[in-house]
Amino acid sequence: MSDIKVTPLGAGQDVGRSCILISIGGKNIMLDCGMHMGYNDDRRFPDFSYIAREGRLTERLNCVIISHFHLDHCGALPYMTEMVGYDGPIYMTHPTKAICPILLEDYRKITVERKGETNFFTSEMIKSCMKKVITANLHQVIQVDDDLEIKAYYAGHVLGAAMFQIRVGQNSVVYTGDYNMTPDRHLGAAWIDKCRPDLLITESTYATTIRDSKRCRERDFLKKVHSCIDKGGKVLIPVFALGRAQELCILLESYWDRMNLKVPIYFSLGLTEKANHYYKLYITWTSEKIKKTFVQRNMFEFKHIKPFDRAYIENPGPMVVFATPGMLHAGLSLQIFKRWAPNENNMELLDTGFSTVHGKLNWKINKC
Ligand SMILES: [Zn+2]
Repeated sequence: MSDIKVTPLGAGQDVGRSCILISIGGKNIMLDCGMHMGYNDDRRFPDFSYIAREGRLTERLNCVIISHFHLDHCGALPYMTEMVGYDGPIYMTHPTKAICPILLEDYRKITVERKGETNFFTSEMIKSCMKKVITANLHQVIQVDDDLEIKAYYAGHVLGAAMFQIRVGQNSVVYTGDYNMTPDRHLGAAWIDKCRPDLLITESTYATTIRDSKRCRERDFLKKVHSCIDKGGKVLIPVFALGRAQELCILLESYWDRMNLKVPIYFSLGLTEKANHYYKLYITWTSEKIKKTFVQRNMFEFKHIKPFDRAYIENPGPMVVFATPGMLHAGLSLQIFKRWAPNENNMELLDTGFSTVHGKLNWKINKC
């Protein structure tokens, strides 16, 4: 077996900026190209000068592989290709390619237009970066060159999330990114061929955390929402537009059906509309259950959940509102929060996992 060299340019012992360089059999592969959401200086992006001093990344790298659309896994891509300079192949799945530029553009807008930061990539750069992307189908063996092949597997994390097996000659590496072994309301479980990789690189952010069973957390969540609206209060759920948001919508939608509730549920427009559009489009990437019910009705055509209008903030009476951004640091969710917080009947449900832009369930109730 030849040596495999692994260099984390981000993540490693940190959460965020996932970017791992592996050298195997004379090939250099970059696994993810993420952004660190906690920094607004140089530390935001991986230090690409480690790969090549003058930014000649194309000569040094055989390919870049992106596991999924969360910005801590793909957020540095336009910076790398357009500002540092990389023209080589970039691989990701179809849904990732569709959704990634929407999130990049949204983040760029917040960073540049609202916060006034400079030295950030432009909309044009996002577009030309995405043109360099080659899409990978699940289980399709892609021959990057004569000696290097990659294969994508379903990761069950967010729509389009994939794990990759990388093979050079007799050696192989499996890289997971985030993955999930239990199917949830909108995605299936991760699956991979029986294999014996020489090296497994896996995400382990929550590996040492023991969480309550999902069923308990969901029941707890529904109970809290229900008791708040029973008292005539308003519920604000700050969400990241994709992933957990869709799962929570399905959860509330079926609960509303079951309990015959009439209180309005709203979802802020814009990003979410686009997001649901992609979930409908890539329905085959979701769970078996969703695919089956799709024949009668698309799970993402919600009956109880209606688009939100800013004017509704002032409406009297109970309501439930999903609003972006999930971190509650700007935009609509913050605006609603400021308006509703003074009333003690109202409640804001913060998914604390969103601090790393991950919809990992961990509800913390902030009584306003
Ligand atoms: Zn993720």
